[in-house]
This record gives sequence, structure tokens and C-alpha cells, in this order.
Amino acid sequence: MTKNHTGRQVAMVFDLNKCLGCQSCTVACKTLWTQGEGMEAMWWNIVNTMPGRGTPRDAWSHGGGYKDGKPVPGTFPPLREWGEAWDLHHEEVFAEHDMTIPLHPVGADGKSPEWGPNWDEDQGGGEYPNSYFFYLQQICMNCTEPACLEACPRTAIYKREEDGIVLVDEERCHGYRFCAEACPYKRIYFNAPLARAQKCISCYPRLEQGVAPACVRQCPGRVRHIDYLDNEDGHIHKLVNEWKVALPLRPDFGVKPNVYYVPPISPTAFDENGEFDETRNRIPLEYLRELFGPGVDAALATLQAERAKVAAGGESELMDILISRKWDDLMGPFTVNPATIERQPVG
Ligand code: SF4
Ligand code: SF4
Ligand code: SF4
Repeated sequence: MTKNHTGRQVAMVFDLNKCLGCQSCTVACKTLWTQGEGMEAMWWNIVNTMPGRGTPRDAWSHGGGYKDGKPVPGTFPPLREWGEAWDLHHEEVFAEHDMTIPLHPVGADGKSPEWGPNWDEDQGGGEYPNSYFFYLQQICMNCTEPACLEACPRTAIYKREEDGIVLVDEERCHGYRFCAEACPYKRIYFNAPLARAQKCISCYPRLEQGVAPACVRQCPGRVRHIDYLDNEDGHIHKLVNEWKVALPLRPDFGVKPNVYYVPPISPTAFDENGEFDETRNRIPLEYLRELFGPGVDAALATLQAERAKVAAGGESELMDILISRKWDDLMGPFTVNPATIERQPVG
């Protein structure tokens, strides 16, 4: 139950080349964990379009994490930056049969909201014909140096020895939000009615019964891999430590996250004559380096080389792992079917 835990670490890898942006993971998490009081606008899992401003808006500009081993002061974005839970004015459009009024969202104040989770979906960046986007899944990263844990004066946040999962003890939490200020990814939500910090719990009650997280099982793109980092035969170890194609997000934040990303392979850019310019990619390498650190160049080169090998009729362990033809292979030791386990009483 310490920050400096020496036990095993559960970790995940998300393959950005396979994500459809369907938000099935988001809905799976929402349905399972955030239906309660004060959780209306909580998205413990969110998939944002990149380049984009994220959820909450400009999430990574609010400080937190560490620089040169020292904590970076952070702020907690106000509710309007996360996007409150809003409705659509169905009654006006459908009940009154006035089809001239376009359906639009209505906030709690009766006005049209100006921001919400994943507000800039599919906008992306770049100039036509070299415009581009990709999807980025975000959950709590169960960091090895969890800034949230260190910032809590109530020692209400702990890192489990057995699997490295970072949890908030809601009995101890007094809702000060220092943790939320300190998390550089802004993955901690504030439950105002309960005055408690709440976040992704890595589906630990499922993991304890050998069941993979809901967001992993519900992903139709087979994007999400989970296992213990030290399982040398497992996908995570192979992708992170052997093939080195799965990288931490914003390693400069200094918290050593335990969610890793396979960076997106970019199409070749067009030149001004509409011909392929083999010297340039549509997704600028500088942007990917900013997101995933300097290891991204080598990771992309490895991915391209292994993909070419398979395209030429060869075999590749890396491509087999990333494709995961057998669904269970994504889930490491957590392959139990949730339909087969006994339901725990709620409360
Ligand atoms: Fe804490 Fe944020 Fe890291 Fe999760 S992602 S362990 S909330 S610092
Ligand atoms: Fe939600 Fe579980 Fe996925 Fe965390 S691991 S985002 S709690 S479904
Ligand atoms: Fe859909 Fe999977 Fe991407 Fe989530 S990670 S948006 S479930 S494809």
C-alpha cells in the first residue's frame, strides 16, 4: 500500500493504429462504474481526437507531475472545462413536430454549451490535403511515481503492492483536490455532492477474479492489451521492453505511467502537385515526439519494417501480437468470462 511498491505491476498497451474512436470502452466504463450521484459528467475512460484540446479542455496545460525530480504546481480545471452533463431538446423538435429547429444540446443553465468531453472529435490538424487525426485513449495510468498520491495530505491515495494499481480511499478523502491538481494527465474527477476524488479503478474487482477490465473486453478494435509488466511471455513485456514499440504518453511529465501506446503509423504526405512526397509524413514526427518522447522514431521504424516483412509474405511475432487473432490473447491472465462468475452483493 505504498508509493514505493516493489510488487508486480499491472500495465496496459493501447495500439493507436487500430482504434476506431467508437467509444465502446467509454460507454462500458460509464455503464459499470459512474452511474452514481455526482458522477453524471465523469468519464474515467475517454477517447480524444488528436491533435486536439483533450478532456478536460487543454488538459495538459494545467501543470502537475514532476520536473527535475521536483513537483510541478498544478491547477484543477473548473467544471466548464470538463463539460457538464447536458441534454438534447428532443421535446421541442419531436413532440412539437417542428422539424425546422435543429437538434442542439442544452446545458443545466438552459443555454447551449460551448465545450464538452471530446468536443473537438474528428477535427484533427494539418492543412488539406495533408490533414490528419488519430484517437488517444486515456485512463488512470497507475503511475510508478504517482504525483496524485504524493500530493494528498490525508494519505487517502495508495498504490497496491500486489498489482501497482493506484486507488483513492474514499473514507479518508476529504475532497481537497490536491491530487487532481497534481495529476499531469488530469485523470482525477471531483464528485461535488460527495466531496470526494474519483477516478478509474482499473476494474480491480474484476481483475481480482481474473476478469479483464470492461474497457478491454468491450473494445471491438482489439486495441487494448493488459498483463503484468514482468510476465516475459506476455504482450506488455514484449511490446514495451523487447520490441520497444509501446511508449509512455508525455514521459516529460515525470510520473512514469504504466499505460503505453503504440504510436500511429502515418500516411505519406502530398506535395503541392498532389504527388506523394516520400520525404514527409502527414503526422509530423515532431508532434509524435512531443507526445511519446524520442523513442518514437525507432518505434515507428520497427513497426514499418515488421509490417513490410509480413506484406512480403514473411512472419512477424510483433505483427502477430498487435493483430491478436485470438481475442483472449489480449487479456494476459485475465481471461475469465464475467458471465461465469458469481455476482457480488452491491453496497
Ligand atoms: Fe495518479 Fe494521474 Fe498517475 Fe493516475 S495518471 S496514478 S491519477 S498521477
Ligand atoms: Fe473504467 Fe475499468 Fe477501464 Fe478504468 S479499467 S477506464 S475503471 S473500464
Ligand atoms: Fe473503440 Fe476500442 Fe478505440 Fe475504445 S479503444 S474507442 S472501444 S476501438
